[in-house]
Amino acid sequence: MANSIWTIEQFTCAGCSMSYTATREEHADTHSGCFKCSICSSVVHSWSGGHHFFRWEAVKTRPPVFGRRWADAGY
Ligand SMILES: [Zn+2]
Repeated sequence: MANSIWTIEQFTCAGCSMSYTATREEHADTHSGCFKCSICSSVVHSWSGGHHFFRWEAVKTRPPVFGRRWADAGY
């Protein structure tokens, strides 16, 4: 009876260009929701219809700027 269809889609935050993936699950009834960026709180994606998105994960495409050490900066 496991005939649910899951596909993984990728989204990019319009605010900070962070990439996320989410698993899209098809439903017979209507679901709605939205996902907000964990970094800048912009709405990355909102949906309403016969599908639902879950398991949002950030895609680490580049090293974070935060925490970079400036060794020998010359100050
Ligand atoms: Zn963002």
